[in-house]
Amino acid sequence: MLCNIYHTSSLFSCVFLYCKIRNYIKHLSFQILLVMLILNILYSMLFNKCTRCHQGDIFTSKNPYNLSKMFSMHSNCSHCDLKYESEPSFFYGALYVSYAISSGWFMIWYFLEYKVLNWDTLNFALFVMGFIVIVSPLTLRWSRIVWLNFFYQFKKEYKEKTISIDNNN
Ligand SMILES: [Zn+2]
Repeated sequence: MLCNIYHTSSLFSCVFLYCKIRNYIKHLSFQILLVMLILNILYSMLFNKCTRCHQGDIFTSKNPYNLSKMFSMHSNCSHCDLKYESEPSFFYGALYVSYAISSGWFMIWYFLEYKVLNWDTLNFALFVMGFIVIVSPLTLRWSRIVWLNFFYQFKKEYKEKTISIDNNN
């Protein structure tokens, strides 16, 4: 009887351990996928590269502070032929991303103010407003690139051109 209980409990322990390990691996693979996704988004944001193939440029000028070409985008990717603005007003959704990025800037400065700077509120508010205006070209670009990433994620096949390239697939 005691032996049976022992065996049953050890069986349950094994099943429990197996489930734990399986969940951990599932969780780990999800985390790895998430990190890969974030790295891919960061790559296209930092180097102005097509979100699908990481080869062609998105904006015509690499410098976001070249004000005459700040909004100027290529219509298609020069490498994988992805049409960036796949429908009229496609980039309206990027406004939400832009809002999130601006909030991120604010949160970073708020944290620094709270922990390190300790300026008075008026100085802090003026500084943050000025900062957000100065980084707005960067925020605009990043928001469009992140928005594109929601629809067209990086695929190795497009980078190596191992699949037939017809537009927007
Ligand atoms: Zn491309």
